[in-house]
Amino acid sequence: MVHGTAANWQPTPRQVEPVLQVANAITTGDDWLIVTHERPDGDAVGSALAVASLLTALGKGWRVLVEEPLPIRFSFLPGHGAVSLVQAMPDRQFTQVIAVDCADVHRYEYAAGYIEKSPVLINIDHHQTNPGYGTVALVDPLAAATCELVYHVTRALGVKLDENLSMCLYTGILTDTGGFSLPNTTREVHQIAAELLAGGVRPYDVAEPALESRTWEQMRLLQVALSHLVLSQNGRYATMFVTREMLNATGCTDDDAEGLVGFARSIDTVEVGMLFRETLDHRVKISLRSKRNVDVALIAQVFAGGGHMRAAGCTVAGSLPEVMKRVIEQVELVMPEA
Ligand code: 5GP
Ligand code: MN
Repeated sequence: MVHGTAANWQPTPRQVEPVLQVANAITTGDDWLIVTHERPDGDAVGSALAVASLLTALGKGWRVLVEEPLPIRFSFLPGHGAVSLVQAMPDRQFTQVIAVDCADVHRYEYAAGYIEKSPVLINIDHHQTNPGYGTVALVDPLAAATCELVYHVTRALGVKLDENLSMCLYTGILTDTGGFSLPNTTREVHQIAAELLAGGVRPYDVAEPALESRTWEQMRLLQVALSHLVLSQNGRYATMFVTREMLNATGCTDDDAEGLVGFARSIDTVEVGMLFRETLDHRVKISLRSKRNVDVALIAQVFAGGGHMRAAGCTVAGSLPEVMKRVIEQVELVMPEA
């Protein structure tokens, strides 16, 4: 195994100041609460566990607080089992918080009861809809992943990129770039990935569980969901939906619907792919994906959601047919004529 790196990849000039501010802020606290968004994806899990690993290396205490156990597909990650569930810490209060991959404070509302007033709040994120909340913010919408920013903080702090930390950072970069394929895949992304490989990452050990692997239940849900795939008349957008009944019939959880929206987007004529999923509390969770022209974050914001230009989401109250109609109306408004 090759360890150590030859080429210390540097942050771009716009990142230098906020990276140093975050690095400094981290050194001033000893007991950190780490939070990320609900239903965490690879970048959320990767960046939260990377920050934990970084704090351990600095000899600091931390808790990663989550609403539910982390998805099983990330169980290969070191620290996967070292997270705390919200219910498990009834008496803890924190004054030092690091939020990763959270576009706004509502994304980690589950942790509100553990955070004292006027906390030190470090905000590390790459969503274009992030307003820059917190006492220190490292927010760069041009970064492909929050993990890319945590990589620079790690460097700034002089912490060694060991195998554990490298695996976490690589997971976020791999998943948020869609396996190094989405338009956010830059030269910087590959440079950083190369350094993480030097740190000990074996790419297939991450890609297989994080990108390729599906449970049999997920595959059955895919079968059912594809049978309801609908293409718009001009072929420019496609919709899929997942009802509670479909989840129950296939033995799936909400999280198992993750990734289905990619099938809607993958149709050659499609610019916008949409997935509508009924939630347990009678709302509809919407995932929006686009290819080249449509800024889906703007559409999600109409419904109080957010995200990125090419991948965004929101949750809307109402019945499935009603919410689908409302969201499709917004998509048609911004779709170029075919
Ligand atoms: P997904 O469709 O996979 O849930 O989310 C796609 C992207 O949009 C992710 O980057 C996610 O963080 C963001 N996103 C999804 N739902 C919401 C939401 O309700 N509010 C905000 N601000 N961002 C969201
Ligand atoms: Mn992300």
